[in-house]
Amino acid sequence: MESHFSLKVINLKKYFPVSRGFFAGPQKYVKAVDNISFVVEKGGTLGIVGESGSGKTTLARLVLRLIEPTSGSVYFDNKNIFELNKHELRRLRPQMQMIFQDPMASLNPRKKVKQILAQVLKLHTSLSSEEIHERILSLLEKVGLSPPELFLERYPHELSGGQRQRVCISRAIALNPRLLIADEPVSALDVSVRGQIIKLLLDIYNESRGDMTYIVISHDIALIKSMCKNTLVMYLGRMVELGETDRIIESPLHPYTKVLISAIPIPDPESARERKRIPITGEPPSLIDPPPGCHFHPRCPYVMDKCRTETPSYFQVDDRLVSCFLYE
Ligand code: SF4
Repeated sequence: MESHFSLKVINLKKYFPVSRGFFAGPQKYVKAVDNISFVVEKGGTLGIVGESGSGKTTLARLVLRLIEPTSGSVYFDNKNIFELNKHELRRLRPQMQMIFQDPMASLNPRKKVKQILAQVLKLHTSLSSEEIHERILSLLEKVGLSPPELFLERYPHELSGGQRQRVCISRAIALNPRLLIADEPVSALDVSVRGQIIKLLLDIYNESRGDMTYIVISHDIALIKSMCKNTLVMYLGRMVELGETDRIIESPLHPYTKVLISAIPIPDPESARERKRIPITGEPPSLIDPPPGCHFHPRCPYVMDKCRTETPSYFQVDDRLVSCFLYE
């Protein structure tokens, strides 16, 4: 029977050892990703939201096997990508692409736009030089760099931030990937161009007609709302809530999610005045030495005794998963 998931993540962990001083005690670890599981349907969209340092980017890098896990599995098209050999992984790479936060850092400053795109197409396709040229023109047109001939000979530093991100997007879609991960795709851009890049990403997703699976990583749940049907909320390496984005925004369950939602700006000043903002107390705790029990307990207005010592497991509330003793 054909499976309908594109991506299945099971008990994924990534612990980074912390370097020890000369007389230090036992080895400590930063648990950047701590036992995360989720499924994304074929052609589905998932937002991953959380503060910086919550482990979002590490999770994305694991999903693409850009780094190796401590344990756990990632199934893409029913294959555990951590069991693939180098050759198999190389064949899979074109199917899984990522758009990074900082377009300047992810483009080679010594290569022209046409060379950046040609490199990907030469490496992974058997297209002729003319076909590659045609494909580059159509990719640039597709991402709104028009007329494309104007951009072929430019270096990244000769482009604006928005244009550079468009080049990154064209490179990411050049091989028609089936999984596209966008890591904070607009946070390094001017506010004036953010909307255009979000629209471009949405257009690309809609044009794929269910062939492309999207994961969008952001600290901004309003951005996730505009792009993703489902949302996974992370706090200090753990998943704290998973469910439909609209439901999470309408009625967040986990106290941390409530704080995130209450911080979304509301354009209408009247409604904004009426809304109760939930203050969050304290700084995010240290990743090296996170609080025992529920990691959120030092900042949680609903904290109970057992939250300080026991880790809540996942409780199902309607169609949502939430890691909090309030829903036991
Ligand atoms: Fe707050 Fe306890 Fe729930 Fe953690 S488990 S979010 S401390 S109520």
